[in-house]
Amino acid sequence: MNTASPSPAATSPLPVCVLGLGLIGGSLVRDLREADRPVFGWNRSRSTVDAAAADGVDVSTDLVATLRRAAEQDALIVLGVPVPALPSLLDAVAEHAPDCGLTDVVSVKGDVLSLVTDHGLAARYVGGHPMAGTADSGWDATMCGLFRDAVWVVTHDNARDDPAWVSTWRQVVEMAEATGAVVVPARTAAHDSAVARISHLPHVVAEALSITADQGGALALSLAATSFRDGTRVAGTAPRLVQAMCENNRDALVTALNETLDLLTSARDALADPDGDLGQMTRDGHDARLRYEARAGRTREAPSNRPFIQVQPGAPGWVDQLHYAETVGAQIGVF
Ligand code: NAP
Repeated sequence: MNTASPSPAATSPLPVCVLGLGLIGGSLVRDLREADRPVFGWNRSRSTVDAAAADGVDVSTDLVATLRRAAEQDALIVLGVPVPALPSLLDAVAEHAPDCGLTDVVSVKGDVLSLVTDHGLAARYVGGHPMAGTADSGWDATMCGLFRDAVWVVTHDNARDDPAWVSTWRQVVEMAEATGAVVVPARTAAHDSAVARISHLPHVVAEALSITADQGGALALSLAATSFRDGTRVAGTAPRLVQAMCENNRDALVTALNETLDLLTSARDALADPDGDLGQMTRDGHDARLRYEARAGRTREAPSNRPFIQVQPGAPGWVDQLHYAETVGAQIGVF
């Protein structure tokens, strides 16, 4: 059962430095401020910095000064930008704050881990991905509570005994929990395969559904009701974000798409054959949906039934516990 709620600030938590105050980075900043956590940030565009500063956020357009401040205060740096923006940001982190703990909120983890490793920053890196969002972008779309009860995936591919890495892992978990999110651990490949199926594939299918309906003309759009609205909701997301998400997870998405295409081809063949039968697919799909509801809850508000595992970071066998949690999709608590 999901019992997470924003946790009160731990004793003198280290500051968090968020680079990129769009929907996700900006909403994180809002939640951390709400939870009385020290947080400051950087954003490329002046208009966002002005808007965030007007809302009371400690934010700058000076990346070098922000990173030097992060290094002085041993802040946890959060990369809140899309993948194409990462190389130049990581160059700056490697030059000005190489010893800070480092995490990110990017929707795919493989490319981020490679880039972080190439920049020599893996020793303090713990990947993150909050499974929450809206179809809107930018500071104006940010809100408190966006991550409440959402899953925040925390990776551990480069887990090591080094106390600095363990401490960064704990900081990332505590930061996620401070927003009201629940933490599910996963390694990069498992994460990217899972999100291909439950996030990126639905985006591609929603685009295809929207296009197919639109090609049916004005009457089809006039008749469309809630099933069409639900099935195509994510096609309302900014196209450049969907494109970046999907193109940055090509291999896993191709695997998932192949499975879907096989199913759709079977459905088409069954319907094209006057003696064909769609029964197997409709029963299998219904059963699969029930299994999802049994785990995630029947409605968005219902508590989840994910298993829960308590972990003590750094204790003997704790990384094996994380692997096990990944296998069963468990959320974790830290003591
Ligand atoms: P967003 O609202 O469009 O914000 C993008 C942010 O990245 C802005 O701060 C933008 O700065 C900055 N940025 C973009 N290109 C840049 C560049 N070349 N150099 C420096 N900064 C750049 O996007 P978002 O939804 O917050 O997405 C941010 C990250 O969160 C992405 O990696 C995405 O995969 C991940 N994510 C998104 C969702 C979702 O549902 N949207 C969910 C989970 C994770 P400017 O203001 O200067 O443009």
